[in-house]
Amino acid sequence: MRRVVLTGIREMEMVNSLTPEITDANDVKIKLTTIGVCGSDIHYYAEGKIGSQVVQYPYPVGHECSGIVEEVGENVSNVKVGDLVVVDPAVHCGKCDQCVSGRPHTCRNNKFLGCPGQLDGCLADYIVMPDFTCFPVSGKMNPTQAALIEPLTIGVYAVNLAQIQNNISVGIFGAGPIGLSILMKLLADNITNITMIEPREYRLEKAKEIGANYLINPEKENVETKVMEQEELLLDVVFEASGEQEAVSNAIKILKPGGKLVLVGIPPEAQYTFNMDLMRRKELTVVNVRRQNYCVEEAIELVVSGKIDVEKMVTHNFTLEETAKAFELVEAYKDGAIKAMINL
Ligand SMILES: [Zn+2]
Ligand SMILES: [Zn+2]
Repeated sequence: MRRVVLTGIREMEMVNSLTPEITDANDVKIKLTTIGVCGSDIHYYAEGKIGSQVVQYPYPVGHECSGIVEEVGENVSNVKVGDLVVVDPAVHCGKCDQCVSGRPHTCRNNKFLGCPGQLDGCLADYIVMPDFTCFPVSGKMNPTQAALIEPLTIGVYAVNLAQIQNNISVGIFGAGPIGLSILMKLLADNITNITMIEPREYRLEKAKEIGANYLINPEKENVETKVMEQEELLLDVVFEASGEQEAVSNAIKILKPGGKLVLVGIPPEAQYTFNMDLMRRKELTVVNVRRQNYCVEEAIELVVSGKIDVEKMVTHNFTLEETAKAFELVEAYKDGAIKAMINL
């Protein structure tokens, strides 16, 4: 089968590789239909690592996908051959302290699709995954929507973790796919007082189209001053979805005392610095978000019910052969890129 592998910094190739086969009674073999290009894939592509996770070449990348069930192991009952499935890229062990206490997303033995040293990525014709990672959606959504469930779950989980009450003011740094997923989940929850802070005008426009009511370009305007014009008392909750130090620093300035900073973005380096004087005086709460936990079904429901039009973030479509072009475009923010999809 065909598979796309990273071969160096900003280098990738399509290779011929063995088709994975079912080896366990709970395995599902999936013929991939659609794969999303994620910001984390771009970190591996452009930097060869995320924090301590370093790529060994050749490396098969990709984790956001949907596909058609091709074959199932004898114990599989939740999906059948021919089903369109959403694939949850995280394979937890089910046995460790984290799994047992309801935290499979921080499983000690977690294996994630397209994560160095864990599972081969899904930029390929086929993958084999355990049944519990497969969610059937035939007749409910199309393959593109199904592949967008994974990034959407991150937004859903981040908002759920923040435990937001109604009638509050919210800020989001970064109008990429994760920032927009947060925005869409907030709107679905009827939280509408939302400020989007993003330096790229075309992304601000997209946030406006989806429903953000205040827009700030931090390269043109003073974030704190602009927020105070709208919300004199400042914001209750701020989501950081850009991975930028400057966004974190600004977030602390625009949160009101007792406010909450939710860190979702992946910084290129492992460290942030915080203004502790301000954080302490305001008694801010910092919430860290690790991927998602038990949010796949909710994300599917939000799309099926029409509360979220997840395809609004898609700006480009490519074939598997054009994967390198897709990565180049997304990394450089070329041509108004937000979300690029690979279609098989
Ligand atoms: Zn992703
Ligand atoms: Zn575990």
